[in-house]
Amino acid sequence: AGLVVAMDGPSGSGKSSVSRGVARALGLRYLDTGAMYRAMTWWMLQQGVDLADPAAIAARCGEPRIVSGTDPDGPTIHVDDVDVAGPIRETEVTGAVSAVAAVPEVRVRLVALQREIIGAGDIVVEGRDIGSVVCPDAPVKVYLTASPEARAQRRSAELAGTTAEAQQEAMARRDTLDSTRKTDPLSMAAGAVEVDTTALTLEEVIAEVLRLVKE
Ligand code: C5P
Repeated sequence: AGLVVAMDGPSGSGKSSVSRGVARALGLRYLDTGAMYRAMTWWMLQQGVDLADPAAIAARCGEPRIVSGTDPDGPTIHVDDVDVAGPIRETEVTGAVSAVAAVPEVRVRLVALQREIIGAGDIVVEGRDIGSVVCPDAPVKVYLTASPEARAQRRSAELAGTTAEAQQEAMARRDTLDSTRKTDPLSMAAGAVEVDTTALTLEEVIAEVLRLVKE
């Protein structure tokens, strides 16, 4: 395998900005696996699949064609040739994604897709289970954290029309769902280096990860 930087951590930890910055600095590709779970969720909602019914999700999760572009300067995501980069960030998808991501058949399918993309060459991959499940052999594994307040603040700065308080609540709910699910719960991978981003600027976090890569 080539150079894989596994970038895991909860939402609002700065994963996306850090991953893209590191990929840019090193001339690597970039993959956002959260966008793939969001794209699957968007399609399920579109199809009217009952998301309270894991069997219904499992039965249909092989259908959508999900294609991720890996340019860190302009990552793209398409479902059956529809550009879903905007819709997958909306609250309807964000509120439903944990339920879809908890279905084992969904994870099997998306992990296989992710491994295919990773196998094509050097890359920075962001997600929740990259260092533990998707790519346990990754030579560099980072686990980003930040205080709940810092995470909520970053998220509400990204999203119009929400307060930091509302964000903190929604994120805490999603964290609990993600970390208590039975399949591949969100947790730190063996061999991962934890980087607490609370008191660091984006540039400082990127520099820290680049240092880990060079080690
Ligand atoms: O990173 P992001 O917040 O976009 O991820 C959306 C959701 O996708 C997470 O809350 C989690 O349920 C799921 N996810 C996952 N495994 C990954 C990436 C994301 O289960 N590798």
